Amino acid sequence: MPRFPGVDYIQFDSLLSEQELLVRQTARQFVDERVVPIIREAYNNAIFPTGLIREMGELGFFGANLEGYGCAGMNSVEYGLIMQELERGDSGLRSFASVQGALVMYPIHTYGSEEQKQRWLPKLQSGAAVGCFGLTEPDFGSNPAGMRATAEKRGDEWILNGEKTWITNGSAADVAIVWARAAEGVRGFLVEKGTPGFETSDIHGKLSMRASVTSSLHFSGCVIPESYRLPGAQGLASALGCLTQARFGIGWGVLGAAMDCYETARSYTLMRKQFGDKPLAGHQLVQEKLAWMITEITKGQLLALQVAKLKEAGRVEAAHVSMLKRNNVSIALECARLSRDLLGANGIMDEYPIMRHMCNLETVKTYEGTDHIHALVIGERVTGLPAYR
Ligand SMILES: Cc1cc2nc3c(=O)[nH]c(=O)nc-3n(C[C@H](O)[C@H](O)[C@H](O)COP(=O)(O)OP(=O)(O)OC[C@H]3O[C@@H](n4cnc5c(N)ncnc54)[C@H](O)[C@@H]3O)c2cc1C
Repeated sequence: MPRFPGVDYIQFDSLLSEQELLVRQTARQFVDERVVPIIREAYNNAIFPTGLIREMGELGFFGANLEGYGCAGMNSVEYGLIMQELERGDSGLRSFASVQGALVMYPIHTYGSEEQKQRWLPKLQSGAAVGCFGLTEPDFGSNPAGMRATAEKRGDEWILNGEKTWITNGSAADVAIVWARAAEGVRGFLVEKGTPGFETSDIHGKLSMRASVTSSLHFSGCVIPESYRLPGAQGLASALGCLTQARFGIGWGVLGAAMDCYETARSYTLMRKQFGDKPLAGHQLVQEKLAWMITEITKGQLLALQVAKLKEAGRVEAAHVSMLKRNNVSIALECARLSRDLLGANGIMDEYPIMRHMCNLETVKTYEGTDHIHALVIGERVTGLPAYR
Protein backbone atom coordinates (compact mmCIF):
# COMPACT_ATOMS: atom_id res chain seq x y z
CA MET A 1 0.00 0.00 0.00
CA PRO A 2 1.27 3.54 -0.72
CA ARG A 3 2.66 5.37 2.30
CA PHE A 4 1.49 8.83 1.24
CA PRO A 5 -2.05 9.29 2.63
CA GLY A 6 -3.11 11.82 -0.02
CA VAL A 7 -4.77 15.18 0.52
CA ASP A 8 -8.55 15.16 0.23
CA TYR A 9 -10.53 17.76 2.16
CA ILE A 10 -13.84 17.80 0.31
CA GLN A 11 -14.15 14.19 -0.82
CA PHE A 12 -12.40 15.05 -4.05
CA ASP A 13 -11.89 11.33 -4.60
CA SER A 14 -15.66 10.91 -4.97
CA LEU A 15 -15.28 12.84 -8.25
CA LEU A 16 -12.84 10.25 -9.57
CA SER A 17 -13.69 6.93 -11.23
CA GLU A 18 -12.42 3.55 -9.96
CA GLN A 19 -9.98 3.48 -12.86
CA GLU A 20 -8.68 6.97 -12.10
CA LEU A 21 -8.14 6.02 -8.46
CA LEU A 22 -6.32 2.87 -9.55
CA VAL A 23 -3.99 4.81 -11.84
CA ARG A 24 -3.19 7.25 -9.02
CA GLN A 25 -2.56 4.36 -6.64
CA THR A 26 -0.09 2.80 -9.08
CA ALA A 27 1.78 6.08 -9.53
CA ARG A 28 1.66 6.78 -5.78
CA GLN A 29 3.12 3.41 -4.95
CA PHE A 30 5.85 3.82 -7.57
CA VAL A 31 6.85 7.17 -6.08
CA ASP A 32 6.77 5.91 -2.49
CA GLU A 33 8.78 2.79 -3.21
CA ARG A 34 11.12 3.80 -6.01
CA VAL A 35 11.51 7.60 -5.91
CA VAL A 36 11.28 8.76 -2.29
CA PRO A 37 14.15 6.50 -1.08
CA ILE A 38 16.63 7.80 -3.69
CA ILE A 39 15.61 11.31 -4.63
CA ARG A 40 17.43 13.19 -1.88
CA GLU A 41 20.79 11.81 -2.96
CA ALA A 42 20.03 12.23 -6.66
CA TYR A 43 19.06 15.86 -6.07
CA ASN A 44 22.10 16.62 -3.91
CA ASN A 45 24.42 15.07 -6.49
CA ALA A 46 22.58 16.76 -9.38
CA ILE A 47 21.86 13.44 -11.08
CA PHE A 48 18.73 12.37 -12.88
CA PRO A 49 17.80 8.84 -11.72
CA THR A 50 18.05 7.20 -15.15
CA GLY A 51 17.39 3.78 -13.60
CA LEU A 52 13.73 4.74 -13.28
CA ILE A 53 13.16 5.51 -16.97
CA ARG A 54 12.36 1.98 -18.17
CA GLU A 55 10.18 1.34 -15.13
CA MET A 56 8.13 4.49 -15.81
CA GLY A 57 7.79 3.32 -19.40
CA GLU A 58 6.55 -0.10 -18.31
CA LEU A 59 3.99 1.55 -16.05
CA GLY A 60 2.67 3.51 -19.04
CA PHE A 61 3.64 6.95 -17.69
CA PHE A 62 5.11 8.28 -20.97
CA GLY A 63 2.60 9.72 -23.41
CA ALA A 64 -0.02 8.15 -21.13
CA ASN A 65 -2.88 10.13 -22.70
CA LEU A 66 -1.98 9.27 -26.30
CA GLU A 67 -3.59 6.48 -28.32
CA GLY A 68 -1.84 3.69 -30.22
CA TYR A 69 1.85 2.90 -30.76
CA GLY A 70 2.02 1.22 -27.34
CA CYS A 71 0.64 4.27 -25.46
CA ALA A 72 -1.72 3.71 -22.56
CA GLY A 73 -4.62 5.79 -23.98
CA MET A 74 -5.52 7.18 -20.55
CA ASN A 75 -7.95 10.03 -20.03
CA SER A 76 -6.85 13.52 -19.02
CA VAL A 77 -7.63 12.99 -15.32
CA GLU A 78 -5.60 9.78 -15.16
CA TYR A 79 -2.75 11.53 -16.93
CA GLY A 80 -2.97 14.47 -14.52
CA LEU A 81 -2.95 12.20 -11.48
CA ILE A 82 0.23 10.51 -12.72
CA MET A 83 1.87 13.93 -13.06
CA GLN A 84 0.69 14.85 -9.56
CA GLU A 85 2.28 11.80 -8.00
CA LEU A 86 5.52 12.10 -9.98
CA GLU A 87 5.94 15.71 -8.90
CA ARG A 88 5.23 14.73 -5.31
CA GLY A 89 8.41 12.70 -5.78
CA ASP A 90 10.31 15.49 -7.52
CA SER A 91 9.64 18.12 -10.19
CA GLY A 92 12.63 16.72 -12.11
CA LEU A 93 10.89 13.41 -12.52
CA ARG A 94 7.65 15.02 -13.63
CA SER A 95 9.59 17.26 -16.00
CA PHE A 96 11.16 14.20 -17.57
CA ALA A 97 7.73 12.63 -18.11
CA SER A 98 6.24 15.93 -19.33
CA VAL A 99 8.97 16.46 -21.89
CA GLN A 100 8.94 12.87 -23.05
CA GLY A 101 5.14 12.68 -23.37
CA ALA A 102 3.81 16.18 -24.03
CA LEU A 103 6.75 17.81 -25.80
CA VAL A 104 8.23 14.92 -27.79
CA MET A 105 5.65 12.13 -28.21
CA TYR A 106 2.71 14.53 -28.60
CA PRO A 107 4.24 16.49 -31.53
CA ILE A 108 5.30 13.27 -33.26
CA HIS A 109 1.82 11.83 -32.66
CA THR A 110 0.06 15.02 -33.80
CA TYR A 111 2.30 16.46 -36.51
CA GLY A 112 4.47 13.47 -37.50
CA SER A 113 4.41 11.19 -40.56
CA GLU A 114 3.37 7.56 -40.13
CA GLU A 115 7.00 6.55 -40.58
CA GLN A 116 8.13 8.95 -37.82
CA LYS A 117 5.41 7.64 -35.49
CA GLN A 118 6.35 4.00 -36.09
CA ARG A 119 10.03 4.75 -35.64
CA TRP A 120 9.85 6.79 -32.45
CA LEU A 121 6.64 6.44 -30.46
CA PRO A 122 7.01 2.82 -29.26
CA LYS A 123 10.62 3.48 -28.19
CA LEU A 124 9.75 6.74 -26.41
CA GLN A 125 6.73 5.15 -24.74
CA SER A 126 8.76 2.29 -23.30
CA GLY A 127 11.63 4.51 -22.25
CA ALA A 128 14.00 2.75 -24.67
CA ALA A 129 14.59 6.19 -26.17
CA VAL A 130 14.62 9.65 -24.57
CA GLY A 131 13.52 12.87 -26.23
CA CYS A 132 13.94 16.61 -25.69
CA PHE A 133 12.19 19.75 -26.98
CA GLY A 134 14.25 22.69 -28.20
CA LEU A 135 12.38 25.97 -28.44
CA THR A 136 14.06 28.45 -26.06
CA GLU A 137 17.14 30.33 -27.28
CA PRO A 138 19.68 32.43 -25.39
CA ASP A 139 18.00 35.68 -26.51
CA PHE A 140 14.41 34.44 -26.81
CA GLY A 141 12.69 32.87 -23.81
CA SER A 142 9.25 34.35 -23.17
CA ASN A 143 9.11 35.48 -26.78
CA PRO A 144 10.02 32.45 -28.89
CA ALA A 145 8.58 34.22 -31.95
CA GLY A 146 11.89 36.05 -32.22
CA MET A 147 13.88 32.82 -32.61
CA ARG A 148 17.11 33.00 -34.63
CA ALA A 149 17.69 29.30 -35.32
CA THR A 150 17.27 28.76 -39.05
CA ALA A 151 16.33 25.87 -41.29
CA GLU A 152 17.34 26.32 -44.91
CA LYS A 153 15.97 24.00 -47.59
CA ARG A 154 18.45 22.52 -50.05
CA GLY A 155 16.89 19.94 -52.34
CA ASP A 156 15.65 17.08 -50.17
CA GLU A 157 17.52 18.29 -47.13
CA TRP A 158 17.43 21.01 -44.51
CA ILE A 159 20.42 22.79 -43.00
CA LEU A 160 19.97 23.75 -39.34
CA ASN A 161 21.98 26.53 -37.70
CA GLY A 162 21.56 28.16 -34.30
CA GLU A 163 21.39 27.49 -30.61
CA LYS A 164 18.77 26.32 -28.16
CA THR A 165 19.24 26.57 -24.43
CA TRP A 166 17.70 25.47 -21.15
CA ILE A 167 16.66 22.22 -22.78
CA THR A 168 15.47 19.51 -20.38
CA ASN A 169 17.01 16.09 -21.19
CA GLY A 170 19.09 17.78 -23.93
CA SER A 171 22.28 15.73 -23.72
CA ALA A 172 20.40 12.60 -22.64
CA ALA A 173 18.09 12.64 -25.64
CA ASP A 174 18.20 10.19 -28.54
CA VAL A 175 15.98 12.54 -30.49
CA ALA A 176 15.44 16.30 -30.22
CA ILE A 177 12.34 18.10 -31.47
CA VAL A 178 13.86 21.32 -32.75
CA TRP A 179 11.98 24.44 -33.84
CA ALA A 180 13.67 26.65 -36.41
CA ARG A 181 12.77 29.45 -38.78
CA ALA A 182 12.43 28.45 -42.43
CA ALA A 183 11.51 30.73 -45.35
CA GLU A 184 7.89 29.48 -45.00
CA GLY A 185 7.77 30.11 -41.24
CA VAL A 186 8.68 28.11 -38.11
CA ARG A 187 9.04 24.37 -38.70
CA GLY A 188 9.71 21.39 -36.41
CA PHE A 189 12.46 18.82 -37.01
CA LEU A 190 13.50 15.51 -35.53
CA VAL A 191 17.24 15.66 -34.92
CA GLU A 192 18.88 12.42 -33.87
CA LYS A 193 21.73 12.21 -31.40
CA GLY A 194 25.06 11.96 -33.19
CA THR A 195 23.94 13.84 -36.32
CA PRO A 196 27.00 15.72 -37.64
CA GLY A 197 26.74 19.44 -36.85
CA PHE A 198 24.61 18.81 -33.74
CA GLU A 199 26.24 19.03 -30.32
CA THR A 200 25.03 19.43 -26.75
CA SER A 201 26.55 20.85 -23.57
CA ASP A 202 25.09 20.61 -20.08
CA ILE A 203 24.22 23.56 -17.86
CA HIS A 204 25.81 23.22 -14.43
CA GLY A 205 25.38 25.19 -11.22
CA LYS A 206 21.57 24.94 -11.00
CA LEU A 207 20.20 25.38 -7.49
CA SER A 208 16.78 24.25 -8.73
CA MET A 209 15.66 21.17 -10.66
CA ARG A 210 18.92 19.46 -9.76
CA ALA A 211 17.63 15.95 -10.41
CA SER A 212 17.11 16.84 -14.07
CA VAL A 213 19.45 17.21 -17.03
CA THR A 214 19.38 20.70 -18.59
CA SER A 215 21.45 21.42 -21.69
CA SER A 216 22.16 23.71 -24.60
CA LEU A 217 21.84 22.40 -28.15
CA HIS A 218 24.20 23.71 -30.84
CA PHE A 219 23.54 23.40 -34.58
CA SER A 220 26.15 24.26 -37.13
CA GLY A 221 25.45 23.26 -40.72
CA CYS A 222 23.49 20.28 -39.38
CA VAL A 223 21.97 18.38 -42.34
CA ILE A 224 18.51 16.87 -41.77
CA PRO A 225 16.61 14.88 -44.41
CA GLU A 226 13.17 16.18 -45.42
CA SER A 227 11.69 12.95 -44.00
CA TYR A 228 12.80 14.15 -40.52
CA ARG A 229 10.68 17.30 -40.68
CA LEU A 230 7.33 17.12 -38.86
CA PRO A 231 5.02 17.47 -41.90
CA GLY A 232 1.99 18.65 -39.92
CA ALA A 233 3.82 21.34 -37.93
CA GLN A 234 3.09 24.72 -39.49
CA GLY A 235 4.31 27.82 -37.69
CA LEU A 236 4.97 28.67 -34.08
CA ALA A 237 1.38 27.72 -33.17
CA SER A 238 2.35 24.05 -33.55
CA ALA A 239 5.13 24.43 -30.98
CA LEU A 240 2.81 26.35 -28.66
CA GLY A 241 0.24 23.54 -29.02
CA CYS A 242 2.77 21.16 -27.46
CA LEU A 243 3.34 23.60 -24.60
CA THR A 244 -0.39 23.64 -23.83
CA GLN A 245 -0.22 19.86 -23.36
CA ALA A 246 2.80 20.11 -21.07
CA ARG A 247 1.36 23.00 -19.06
CA PHE A 248 -1.76 20.96 -18.41
CA GLY A 249 0.46 18.29 -16.81
CA ILE A 250 2.29 20.94 -14.80
CA GLY A 251 -1.00 22.28 -13.44
CA TRP A 252 -1.69 18.84 -11.96
CA GLY A 253 1.93 18.03 -11.14
CA VAL A 254 2.64 20.95 -8.83
CA LEU A 255 -0.33 19.93 -6.68
CA GLY A 256 1.76 16.87 -5.78
CA ALA A 257 4.65 19.05 -4.59
CA ALA A 258 2.18 21.23 -2.66
CA MET A 259 0.58 18.18 -1.05
CA ASP A 260 3.94 16.82 0.02
CA CYS A 261 4.86 20.15 1.64
CA TYR A 262 1.47 20.47 3.33
CA GLU A 263 1.49 16.91 4.66
CA THR A 264 5.06 17.27 5.91
CA ALA A 265 4.14 20.47 7.78
CA ARG A 266 0.89 19.02 9.14
CA SER A 267 2.53 15.89 10.57
CA TYR A 268 5.56 17.81 11.84
CA THR A 269 3.55 20.45 13.69
CA LEU A 270 1.35 17.76 15.27
CA MET A 271 4.45 16.13 16.71
CA ARG A 272 6.63 19.13 17.63
CA LYS A 273 5.95 20.85 20.95
CA GLN A 274 7.03 24.30 22.17
CA PHE A 275 5.86 26.37 25.16
CA GLY A 276 4.64 23.46 27.25
CA ASP A 277 2.88 20.33 26.17
CA LYS A 278 0.91 21.75 23.29
CA PRO A 279 1.88 20.70 19.76
CA LEU A 280 2.68 23.53 17.34
CA ALA A 281 -0.41 22.50 15.37
CA GLY A 282 -2.56 23.55 18.32
CA HIS A 283 -1.65 27.24 17.89
CA GLN A 284 -3.88 29.56 15.89
CA LEU A 285 -1.13 31.07 13.73
CA VAL A 286 0.02 27.61 12.70
CA GLN A 287 -3.50 26.45 11.95
CA GLU A 288 -4.08 29.53 9.80
CA LYS A 289 -1.17 28.47 7.57
CA LEU A 290 -2.39 24.87 7.37
CA ALA A 291 -5.90 26.12 6.61
CA TRP A 292 -4.58 28.35 3.81
CA MET A 293 -2.63 25.49 2.29
CA ILE A 294 -5.41 22.90 2.34
CA THR A 295 -7.89 25.45 0.97
CA GLU A 296 -5.63 26.44 -1.93
CA ILE A 297 -4.71 22.84 -2.71
CA THR A 298 -8.40 21.94 -2.76
CA LYS A 299 -9.23 24.86 -5.09
CA GLY A 300 -6.27 23.82 -7.25
CA GLN A 301 -7.58 20.25 -7.48
CA LEU A 302 -11.02 21.47 -8.60
CA LEU A 303 -9.49 23.77 -11.21
CA ALA A 304 -7.33 20.91 -12.51
CA LEU A 305 -10.30 18.57 -12.68
CA GLN A 306 -12.49 21.04 -14.56
CA VAL A 307 -9.75 21.80 -17.08
CA ALA A 308 -9.28 18.03 -17.54
CA LYS A 309 -13.00 17.63 -18.16
CA LEU A 310 -12.93 20.44 -20.74
CA LYS A 311 -9.93 18.78 -22.36
CA GLU A 312 -11.76 15.46 -22.56
CA ALA A 313 -14.74 17.22 -24.13
CA GLY A 314 -12.48 18.96 -26.67
CA ARG A 315 -13.48 22.36 -25.29
CA VAL A 316 -10.32 23.39 -23.46
CA GLU A 317 -8.66 26.68 -24.42
CA ALA A 318 -4.98 27.51 -24.02
CA ALA A 319 -6.12 30.36 -21.74
CA HIS A 320 -7.81 27.84 -19.41
CA VAL A 321 -4.54 25.94 -19.15
CA SER A 322 -2.72 29.22 -18.47
CA MET A 323 -4.91 29.82 -15.44
CA LEU A 324 -4.35 26.25 -14.23
CA LYS A 325 -0.58 26.44 -14.64
CA ARG A 326 -0.19 29.92 -13.17
CA ASN A 327 -2.49 29.46 -10.21
CA ASN A 328 -1.33 26.02 -9.18
CA VAL A 329 2.38 26.82 -9.46
CA SER A 330 1.84 29.97 -7.43
CA ILE A 331 -0.04 28.24 -4.60
CA ALA A 332 2.40 25.30 -4.60
CA LEU A 333 5.31 27.71 -4.17
CA GLU A 334 3.51 29.47 -1.33
CA CYS A 335 2.71 26.10 0.30
CA ALA A 336 6.42 25.25 0.15
CA ARG A 337 7.34 28.59 1.74
CA LEU A 338 4.74 28.29 4.52
CA SER A 339 5.70 24.69 5.23
CA ARG A 340 9.37 25.63 5.42
CA ASP A 341 8.47 28.24 8.00
CA LEU A 342 6.41 25.80 10.07
CA LEU A 343 9.31 23.37 10.34
CA GLY A 344 11.54 26.07 11.77
CA ALA A 345 15.25 25.27 11.44
CA ASN A 346 14.46 21.72 10.35
CA GLY A 347 12.65 23.22 7.37
CA ILE A 348 15.94 24.03 5.69
CA MET A 349 17.25 20.47 5.92
CA ASP A 350 17.34 18.02 3.02
CA GLU A 351 15.97 15.39 5.38
CA TYR A 352 12.61 16.95 4.55
CA PRO A 353 11.45 17.48 0.96
CA ILE A 354 10.34 21.08 1.39
CA MET A 355 13.39 23.10 0.29
CA ARG A 356 13.85 20.75 -2.67
CA HIS A 357 10.26 21.32 -3.78
CA MET A 358 10.57 25.06 -3.15
CA CYS A 359 13.71 25.34 -5.27
CA ASN A 360 12.21 23.17 -8.01
CA LEU A 361 9.03 25.23 -8.08
CA GLU A 362 11.07 28.36 -8.84
CA THR A 363 11.92 26.73 -12.17
CA VAL A 364 8.35 25.58 -12.70
CA LYS A 365 7.19 29.16 -12.17
CA THR A 366 9.52 30.23 -14.99
CA TYR A 367 9.41 27.47 -17.60
CA GLU A 368 6.54 26.67 -19.93
CA GLY A 369 5.46 30.32 -19.82
CA THR A 370 6.35 32.45 -16.83
CA ASP A 371 3.82 33.59 -14.25
CA HIS A 372 3.77 37.02 -15.95
CA ILE A 373 3.20 35.60 -19.41
CA HIS A 374 0.26 33.49 -18.24
CA ALA A 375 -1.19 36.56 -16.51
CA LEU A 376 -1.00 38.30 -19.90
CA VAL A 377 -2.71 35.35 -21.60
CA ILE A 378 -5.53 35.52 -19.07
CA GLY A 379 -5.60 39.31 -19.40
CA GLU A 380 -5.95 39.07 -23.16
CA ARG A 381 -8.69 36.43 -22.81
CA VAL A 382 -10.81 38.70 -20.60
CA THR A 383 -10.14 42.05 -22.29
CA GLY A 384 -9.39 41.14 -25.88
CA LEU A 385 -6.30 43.35 -25.60
CA PRO A 386 -2.87 41.71 -26.00
CA ALA A 387 -0.38 43.39 -23.63
CA TYR A 388 2.77 41.38 -24.39
CA ARG A 389 4.62 44.20 -26.14
C1 LIG B 1 15.32 24.03 -15.60
C2 LIG B 1 14.72 24.57 -16.86
C3 LIG B 1 14.29 23.69 -17.86
C4 LIG B 1 13.77 24.18 -19.06
N1 LIG B 1 13.43 23.29 -20.05
C5 LIG B 1 13.11 23.77 -21.29
C6 LIG B 1 12.92 22.87 -22.39
O1 LIG B 1 12.94 21.63 -22.22
N2 LIG B 1 12.72 23.38 -23.64
C7 LIG B 1 12.67 24.73 -23.86
O2 LIG B 1 12.49 25.12 -25.01
N3 LIG B 1 12.83 25.62 -22.84
C8 LIG B 1 13.05 25.16 -21.57
N4 LIG B 1 13.26 26.04 -20.52
C9 LIG B 1 13.26 27.49 -20.81
C10 LIG B 1 12.06 28.23 -20.28
O3 LIG B 1 10.91 27.89 -21.00
C11 LIG B 1 12.38 29.72 -20.29
O4 LIG B 1 13.32 29.96 -19.27
C12 LIG B 1 11.14 30.59 -20.10
O5 LIG B 1 10.34 30.59 -21.26
C13 LIG B 1 11.47 32.04 -19.73
O6 LIG B 1 12.41 32.56 -20.62
P1 LIG B 1 13.71 33.34 -20.07
O7 LIG B 1 14.35 32.47 -19.03
O8 LIG B 1 14.50 33.74 -21.23
O9 LIG B 1 13.15 34.59 -19.30
P2 LIG B 1 12.76 36.01 -19.94
O10 LIG B 1 11.85 35.80 -21.09
O11 LIG B 1 13.99 36.81 -20.14
O12 LIG B 1 11.91 36.65 -18.75
C14 LIG B 1 12.53 37.18 -17.58
C15 LIG B 1 11.46 37.89 -16.74
O13 LIG B 1 10.83 38.90 -17.53
C16 LIG B 1 9.43 38.69 -17.56
N5 LIG B 1 8.86 39.10 -18.83
C17 LIG B 1 9.25 38.76 -20.09
N6 LIG B 1 8.44 39.34 -20.99
C18 LIG B 1 7.52 40.05 -20.30
C19 LIG B 1 6.40 40.86 -20.66
N7 LIG B 1 6.04 41.05 -21.94
N8 LIG B 1 5.67 41.42 -19.68
C20 LIG B 1 5.99 41.22 -18.39
N9 LIG B 1 7.04 40.47 -17.96
C21 LIG B 1 7.78 39.89 -18.92
C22 LIG B 1 9.26 37.19 -17.33
O14 LIG B 1 7.95 36.90 -16.85
C23 LIG B 1 10.34 36.93 -16.30
O15 LIG B 1 9.89 37.31 -15.04
C24 LIG B 1 13.68 25.58 -19.27
C25 LIG B 1 14.05 26.45 -18.24
C26 LIG B 1 14.55 25.96 -17.06
C27 LIG B 1 14.96 26.92 -15.98
